Amino acid sequence: MSGYTTSQLREWDKQHVWHPFTQMQDWEQEEPIVITRGEGSWLIDSEGKRYLDGVASMWTNVHGHCRRELNEALKAQVDRLEHSTLLGLAGEQSIILARRLAEITPAGLDRFFYSDNGSTAMEVAVKMAFQYQVHRGRAERSRFITFRNAYHGDTLGAVSVGGIDIYHSTFRPLLFETIQAPSPYCYRCEMGCSGPESCGMKCLDALEALMIEQGARCAGLVIEPLLQGAGGMIVQPHGFLRRVRDLCDRYGLLMIADEVATGFGRTGRMFACDHEGVVPDIMALSKGIAAGYLPIAATVTTGEVYEAFLGRYAELKTFFHGHTFTGNPLACAVALKSLDLFESDRLLDALQPKILRLQERLAEIACLPHVGDVRQCGMAAGIELVEDKATKRAYPWELKTGVRVCLEARKLGIFSRPLGNTVVVFPPLSITPDELELLLDGLEQAIINVVEE
Ligand code: PMP
Repeated sequence: MSGYTTSQLREWDKQHVWHPFTQMQDWEQEEPIVITRGEGSWLIDSEGKRYLDGVASMWTNVHGHCRRELNEALKAQVDRLEHSTLLGLAGEQSIILARRLAEITPAGLDRFFYSDNGSTAMEVAVKMAFQYQVHRGRAERSRFITFRNAYHGDTLGAVSVGGIDIYHSTFRPLLFETIQAPSPYCYRCEMGCSGPESCGMKCLDALEALMIEQGARCAGLVIEPLLQGAGGMIVQPHGFLRRVRDLCDRYGLLMIADEVATGFGRTGRMFACDHEGVVPDIMALSKGIAAGYLPIAATVTTGEVYEAFLGRYAELKTFFHGHTFTGNPLACAVALKSLDLFESDRLLDALQPKILRLQERLAEIACLPHVGDVRQCGMAAGIELVEDKATKRAYPWELKTGVRVCLEARKLGIFSRPLGNTVVVFPPLSITPDELELLLDGLEQAIINVVEE
């Protein structure tokens, strides 16, 4: 413990800490919870109050907080080496981790470029894809096909390939242009669809039309496979990803799969791409890679992409990109231990009944009069709150309905953070069945208290 009182910490937080995605004028009026400890699925504040971590600490936590085996792996590593660079040196832990990851990533993806967060993993992916095209003599392929409502991070390259206006439009003058395709979300994508399947097909037709027209100018296509996370937990219809892969092949685009949120078990398989047997050309990994312990990311690609960068020094085919903390040994050691735990806990098997239970509970919650749509992909879900159930008319965003539900949930010992009017369910994968009930009961009650009364 720091020895400081909660009120001191709160005061200093307001004086010095600028919080992400937060209107600080509102924040300054609030009494923030100060988290000091974690235990399994729980976060514990400076006054000893416990909160079920309903969003896995920004979608990162896999095996619970302060898991003994991970703590020990971290402690053992810190006594050997805390950091050494990959610029000019190799590192024991980053080598072993790449080797282990190559065994579980989709076949053929075995060249790992490390960085330290999801946005950088995507910056690397985009730059790598473009430079690959340059090396193949296709420098005119400088554009990217992206999806409406996509989110790939907050650095400028990652924002450029994103498509959430409320976050991204201010920065438009600073961004590179992309070719935006509609994303499957039946009643929202303005394609006049009758349901998710027809929507998926219409979106694919529109995507193909874009590729016919502009594909020859594109280096690649960027997609969150199966699930648009920050866009509101939007689930793609089955088969969509496979067809996107086929279209990329047909029109010569590299397929970049952003598995930053979906990777490491979240969808019920190790990677979202596994559900449809899809092998992207480039895949971005972060968040769950080190079980939510430390910032680390990897952009993995094929031998074909990698080999295009080989050449004599003077040819300048080098990939001139790198971050100071790339391949950090502490993060790699934890990531390795996390992979062990996936096996020893049989985590993916243990997830399946929890995923089914989540599905059942969501179906019940969907019956509430102000719940418009529930969407689920494995252990990730979104409960959308609507002003009018029949038309699915949204609450005006200024009402902060999602925020108010989450504040209510807090009173019931649950920490959640909404995406607009969508309440997010994204717990640590190790959540126990009882804790899952608590989480869903609490969220349901909070919804009832705020919008149903
Ligand atoms: N891609 C996806 C799909 C994400 O969900 C996120 C983060 N929510 C990112 C990229 C960016 O990751 P980071 O916040 O670590 O930069």
